[in-house]
Amino acid sequence: NTQAIIITIGDELLIGQIVDTNSAWIAQQLNILGISVKERIAVGDTRDAIIEALSEAIPKADLILLTGGLGPTSDDITKPVLCSFFGGKLVVNEDVLAHVTELFRKRNRPIIERNMKQAEVPDNCRVIHNPMGTAPGMLFEQNGKWIVSLPGVPFEMKAMMTETLLPDFATRFGSTQAIVHRNILTIGEGESFLAERISDLEAALPAHIRLAYLPSPMAVKLRLTGTGTDEAALTKEVEHHRDLIAARVQNRLVALEDHPIELLLANALKKQNLTIGLAESCTGGYIGHKLTQINGSSAFFKGGIISYATSAKSDILGIPAAVIEKEGVVSEAIATEMAQAARKLLHSDIGIGITGILSADPYEDKSPVGTIFISVAGPGEIRAKKYQLHYDRVQNKETATQLALYQAFE
Ligand code: ATP
Ligand code: MG
Repeated sequence: NTQAIIITIGDELLIGQIVDTNSAWIAQQLNILGISVKERIAVGDTRDAIIEALSEAIPKADLILLTGGLGPTSDDITKPVLCSFFGGKLVVNEDVLAHVTELFRKRNRPIIERNMKQAEVPDNCRVIHNPMGTAPGMLFEQNGKWIVSLPGVPFEMKAMMTETLLPDFATRFGSTQAIVHRNILTIGEGESFLAERISDLEAALPAHIRLAYLPSPMAVKLRLTGTGTDEAALTKEVEHHRDLIAARVQNRLVALEDHPIELLLANALKKQNLTIGLAESCTGGYIGHKLTQINGSSAFFKGGIISYATSAKSDILGIPAAVIEKEGVVSEAIATEMAQAARKLLHSDIGIGITGILSADPYEDKSPVGTIFISVAGPGEIRAKKYQLHYDRVQNKETATQLALYQAFE
């Protein structure tokens, strides 16, 4: 069976400044595919160290994975080292260049020469797309062996493994016929707390079903992967364990595969015969869009008011300008005023109010960036919450929308 070696690169690993979690995670994932990890090695950020580790690993293994040292800083040398090791030369890759440029545009940041360098890749490798960052991965092939280099940043590495590499490894090196994945998306609770809550369920998993935690800044995806011979039976078995875990984390649940949070909310509203109305500011109607994606939304969705400008919050929603002036337009009080106004104006049982700042505004000095207030007003109670988001504008909008739907569902 296939033997793999994992090489993690970085001086920080050797001085103990960071703990190598990458190779542990990679080892787990490879194991699921029936690929044995023979060695895990950590080396420093030097050309000699990388070449030595690689030269020793190649004769011993079929698959070699490296992480780290792909960034735009001068200590990141993995790319040129691998390029020359495999006898290639660095050339600009148009797809990567377009991706890097787009990422910077989305983040409203100017792109500098150093970042453009990230679009250079060896001409003798297969480029692995990095959906979460700028540094592309590289796959070199030598005598049927695969040597793969990935960024050190854990969530970038995990995304690339999950989306591209693991399926390819399974096809190329995997030993089992059927692989079944099932996901549970949760929000608002850290992976360690989730792990604590489901530890008994995790311990009770059979050896051929593994659980992986894929954390991103606000959400944690729990991924079950089963391997076996009979796909139908395996699917049933994996879904059984998925349902047990989902029931346990019910209060943090966002989605089961293709059941997004808006669907969970819609089902809950329909079950209780309740209607909802919105007063959206920073999300610009996106919450309304999500709710109206659902078949039969007229049963529970009354409508939404996009009261974006401060004046619209007075003119349409009727919140006195003096109150807005006093509380500040991005505040818990105004989110609650908005939720109540939506409820009243739209004659709904529940009102959602959301106000926040998605990104730095070049025309107005608005701060603090990423602060969002969401208020949910029902017949009896009002619940308002503050959130601090840290992404670019588009991602903040997506997250704020998810949080609003979640808060209404909770
Ligand atoms: P960047 O583009 O951020 O420079 P990179 O590919 O150059 O990415 P590194 O500079 O080696 O990667 O590491 C970036 C960050 O990722 C580190 O500061 C560290 O927090 C984390 N990291 C790197 N290697 C590992 C590892 N083996 N295990 C866990 N975390 C790691
Ligand atoms: Mg780096």
